[in-house]
Amino acid sequence: MAIADFSRRDFVRGAAVAAGSALVPNWLLATPPQDPVVNKVKKDGKTISREKVSWKVQPFPMKQVRLGDGPCKIAMEADRRYLHSLPPDRLLHTFRLNAGIPSPAQPLGGWEAPDCELRGHYAGGHYLSACALMHASTGDEELKANANNVLAELGKCQNALKGGYLSAFPVEFFDRLRNRERVWAPFYTIHKIMAGALDMYVCCGNDQGLEIAEKMAGWVAGYTQPLSYDHMQRILGTEYGGMGEVLSNLYAVTGKDYYLEVAQRFDKKLFFDPLAAHRDELKGLHVNTHIPQVIAAARYYELTGDQRYRNIADYFWDEVVNERSYCTAGTSNGESWNTDPGKLAAELSTNTTECCCAYNMMKLTRHLFGWSADARYMDYYERALFNHRLGTIHPEDGTMMYYLPLAPGYWKTFGKPFDSLWCCTGTGSEEYAKLTDTIYFHDDDSLYVNLYINSDLEWPEKGIRLRQETLFPEQQTTTLTISAKNPVTLSVQLRIPYWAEGGNVKINGATLPAFGSPSSYLSLNRTWKNGDKIELSLPMALHIDRMPDDESVQAVMYGPLVLAGRFDAVAKELMYGEYEPKNQKPVNVPDIVADPGKPTAWVEPDAKQPLTFRAVGQSQPLTLVPLYQIIQERYAVYWKISKKSA
Ligand SMILES: [Zn+2]
Repeated sequence: MAIADFSRRDFVRGAAVAAGSALVPNWLLATPPQDPVVNKVKKDGKTISREKVSWKVQPFPMKQVRLGDGPCKIAMEADRRYLHSLPPDRLLHTFRLNAGIPSPAQPLGGWEAPDCELRGHYAGGHYLSACALMHASTGDEELKANANNVLAELGKCQNALKGGYLSAFPVEFFDRLRNRERVWAPFYTIHKIMAGALDMYVCCGNDQGLEIAEKMAGWVAGYTQPLSYDHMQRILGTEYGGMGEVLSNLYAVTGKDYYLEVAQRFDKKLFFDPLAAHRDELKGLHVNTHIPQVIAAARYYELTGDQRYRNIADYFWDEVVNERSYCTAGTSNGESWNTDPGKLAAELSTNTTECCCAYNMMKLTRHLFGWSADARYMDYYERALFNHRLGTIHPEDGTMMYYLPLAPGYWKTFGKPFDSLWCCTGTGSEEYAKLTDTIYFHDDDSLYVNLYINSDLEWPEKGIRLRQETLFPEQQTTTLTISAKNPVTLSVQLRIPYWAEGGNVKINGATLPAFGSPSSYLSLNRTWKNGDKIELSLPMALHIDRMPDDESVQAVMYGPLVLAGRFDAVAKELMYGEYEPKNQKPVNVPDIVADPGKPTAWVEPDAKQPLTFRAVGQSQPLTLVPLYQIIQERYAVYWKISKKSA
């Protein structure tokens, strides 16, 4: 069945030859690309790719990008400390028990507790993915060693369980799934474990990761093969995560067609058909069950060229982003889409916008951006990153949020380090480990600067390094400095965000006469020399984000940032352990009086503190700061506006 077998050793040799430039540091030489989407493998000196549709622009391997100081690095380091704090023996406990291997370890709690039906999703899944991604982003060898150790022990559990099955719960859960008896989400958990093992192969070069993932795929194939189409469709009524995606990725790295065939057994007809026909029938659906299915559709499009799958992904993205997302770019309320398109004003609660949904929408967005290089996708990505992802990890202990409440007057709640381990702990652990994956993209002749984040890029094929220095978003400028051994002709594409109010760009101190329009890329084509400097200025201004179905419900933004009214701090015990704020009423958030002709005039910048604003002409003093900066205080994102009388 295999198109071509290859050994990883062949590939590494090929990559090293291709990248043999003097500027290439050693740590770049021995690793495959991080992203299965851009996987190309070398066989007998030839490049093999299974992608039928190549991305117009591609990411750089994460190991070529390093974060500098700033809010993204603070989030990444908090995540890294959290991953270091997790003891491998505790992670392995329920896997060992399930495989009949003695384990004296103290069990983890929350969704990893020995009686939780989702156990294993984090411990043997997200944990491995997060460590693999963190290793790619930082070069952290200790985390890689810990994850290698956990993976090796999971391999022993898999051998003991026989038949390729690997889980922390008994295979009997799958009998219940087959019989349509009550069970939480067995395939969801299997997806996380398969993805974790595969990420260890792709990002850390651990061959056993591929072996474990392939054995699991063999088990999945055997389970699904005897089922009729209709029976399988009924099984797809139970949440199954990204089974289609991980099986597609397994096909991409092995070339074994069979995995793609098994992947497509996870196509849910009831969900895909209306999307392909451009009908929004999302009302009533559980959100985070469905976004990963569209990521799988994106992979099917890339691997088969079937346009129907692209239609599904494009239409879905447009509907979710334009009709079903709040100002933060988050989506869902109580984990579902409860309304018709564009009806959000009555959908503000303490359990709006599950964090996993933002993670998965951003992941989907990278595919759509890769196909099109359209700046509007990165506008969305930036909005989600700075408003939903930053600020939902605790900067000190690395615990994560589940929901980001958007009802006024509540506060943020975080998991407990060893006793929550929710789905959102898992996707969060991965998110903050891969903040390096989207800042820069490229094609053969162009470098895309998508995000303004303090960072360094190595591009050995072009013999250049790029240093981006910025305190963005506290600073409304960024400086890019090029190091090149020899002059290099290159188009540098700078994203001009949707919110930019004018702006300018200087090259080596000289202001260019032209600038780009909002939501586009400004192209700088020239032969770049060592030390060339690009200075980009992107002035931010206040603007309003109104509810689509009630203009009197408004949020205030400053450039890319959602501003939140900051109220009193809550006690620490109220912040930990719950999915959402509980047992206390919201603080009283006043209505705002504003002039419809000047809707932002009630907010004025504080001259002394960056990114701090004061309300003027209101019933009480109010301070507004970016939502991501609020950790312990109650807050309000949406305000009820009444018209100022003349
Ligand atoms: Zn979640």
